[in-house]
Amino acid sequence: MIIDAHTHIWGGQYGESTRELLRACDLFGISKLHVSGLKSHYPDEAEVAELNADVARFMKEQPGMVEGYCYVNPAHSNALDVLKKGVEEYGMSGMKLWVATFCDDPRVFPVVEACIDYNIPILIHAFHKAVDQLEFETTGVHVANLARLYPNAKILMAHFGGNCYHGIRAVRDCRNVWHDFSGSPFRRDDVDYAVERVGVDRIVFGSDMPITYLVNYGQVEEADLTAEQKERIYYKNALELFDRSLKIG
Ligand SMILES: [Zn+2]
Repeated sequence: MIIDAHTHIWGGQYGESTRELLRACDLFGISKLHVSGLKSHYPDEAEVAELNADVARFMKEQPGMVEGYCYVNPAHSNALDVLKKGVEEYGMSGMKLWVATFCDDPRVFPVVEACIDYNIPILIHAFHKAVDQLEFETTGVHVANLARLYPNAKILMAHFGGNCYHGIRAVRDCRNVWHDFSGSPFRRDDVDYAVERVGVDRIVFGSDMPITYLVNYGQVEEADLTAEQKERIYYKNALELFDRSLKIG
C-alpha cells in the first residue's frame, strides 16, 4: 500500500492535474492522495478560495481516495475563516503553508493554534536554496522555531527542507516534525540519512505529483531499509500522522 501525502492540483489546470494524479494511482498502485492547490507565490483571497474549491471538488469526485489540505495564506485577514471552511465544510484533513510568509511569522500562529484544536497536520513547504531563495521562503530553521513554539502541532516538513543536511539538521530534535522527501533535488542516500537522524517513524512518503513521482519511489526502493521500514514510510506513518485521535506533545 502507498499513501502519497504531498500532491497538487495546479491552479487553472484542474483537468490536467487530476488526470495525471489518477493515472499515477492506477499505474503505481497508490491507494490515497493528500492534495493541495497551488498557483502564484503570493495569492490573493479569491485565488486561495478557488484553489481550495478545486481540491474540495476532487475530494468529492474521488471519495476515500483523495484527501485535502486547506491552503492558507497567513497574510490574509480571512485566513482563519478559510481554514474553518476547509475543515468544517469541505472535510479537509490538513493545512498547507507555502511561500507567502515564513512559517514562524506571527500571522501564522492563529491558524496553527486552530490546527492543534482540530488535531490536523500542517504541511509546510521548506526549501533552503543556494541561489534564488524567495523572499519569505521557509527553511528548516523557521520550521524548528514554529515546532518549538507549538510542541503539540503536528508538522510535516516538505522536501527534507530542500537539502537534508540543512533542513533535517535544523529540526532533528523536534519530535513533532515529520518529513517528506517530495520533489527531485535529492541524492541516492538522503532517505538513509534521514532515517539515521530522525528515525523511520517520522518519514512520510510524498512525491510532489504531478511534478515528480518515480524519483521518490526509487529513493525508498534503493534505500538500505527492511521491508517493515519501507512500509512505515509508504503508508503507516501517514496513517498515524492523519489520525485525529492521536495527540502529540
Ligand atoms: Zn509541493
